[in-house]
Amino acid sequence: LVRLRARLARSQNSLGKGLLSLLSREHLDEDTWEEIEDTLLTADVGVAPTQELVERLRERVKVLGTRTPEELRALLREELLTLVGPDMDREVKTQNDRETPGIVMVVGVNGTGKTTTTGKLARVLVADGNTVVLGAADTFRAAAADQLQTWGERVGAYTVRGPEGGDPASVAFDAVKEGREMGVDVVLIDTAGRLHTKTGLMDELGKVKRVVEKHAPLDEVLLVLDATTGQNGLVQARVFAEVVDITGIVLTKLDGTAKGGIVVAVQRELGVPVKLVGLGEGPDDLAPFEPGAFVDALIG
Ligand code: GDP
Repeated sequence: LVRLRARLARSQNSLGKGLLSLLSREHLDEDTWEEIEDTLLTADVGVAPTQELVERLRERVKVLGTRTPEELRALLREELLTLVGPDMDREVKTQNDRETPGIVMVVGVNGTGKTTTTGKLARVLVADGNTVVLGAADTFRAAAADQLQTWGERVGAYTVRGPEGGDPASVAFDAVKEGREMGVDVVLIDTAGRLHTKTGLMDELGKVKRVVEKHAPLDEVLLVLDATTGQNGLVQARVFAEVVDITGIVLTKLDGTAKGGIVVAVQRELGVPVKLVGLGEGPDDLAPFEPGAFVDALIG
């Protein structure tokens, strides 16, 4: 976790540092406030949250009068934390009070890191003492099922897969059925995310969801978004939210971007918390999203 924090800090703290140095200027004139706005927008915080934050900062800085670096730092930390939502429930729900396995569906556009995230999540669950079945319902990307199965073998989870190009819903159904018969704790279902036709995606995901829910309600639907895709990611988020009830967001590739503001933007967009972040390609590079640690990384 310490290593992950360091990586997060490396990629993110240009935003916070930039804000702090701007706020430390002797004269906070209109140009400076505009620069502060630009800094936030560049980090993908989004227009409305940026305006809100700047308004609050202006107000508080005015009240403060003279500004010591420590005061500014504390003030910025507090305001950024409020923006990130310190009180949202970020627990990944993999358990339920039924006798059946917890069911987690992982959705998102191909290339965002869906399969990798499913694998990493399985690893965390197994390390915590859970038994896990993986459902390779991304039957369209040729290598996806192999990739997932490799993760499964690596972490000790059984993978249910179907024929290439087969029906994703039937793989999902089989995975849940298998999971129940084996009496495992959690079934993780990786899905396909081809966005080229929105209706195609809707139909397919909707069907996977319906079929799985014949067994039991979904405990968690995680939307995987690539943090480096900025506003595009928000458009994707909207499309998926129309099809399935997203319960949590996984923001991947946060190690490769300084645009951590997307956390704020996407939570606003969907009204759903970021629950996990991907900070690299390795098996251990998935971490719970902690608002406090995130903001500390921002400010550096
Ligand atoms: P899928 O098509 O959505 O299932 O995407 P994959 O899981 O195959 O991931 C696409 C690429 O992104 C792979 O090369 C992954 O190793 C990489 N990737 C996934 N998550 C992360 C992350 O958090 N950080 C980085 N740097 N790369 C990631």
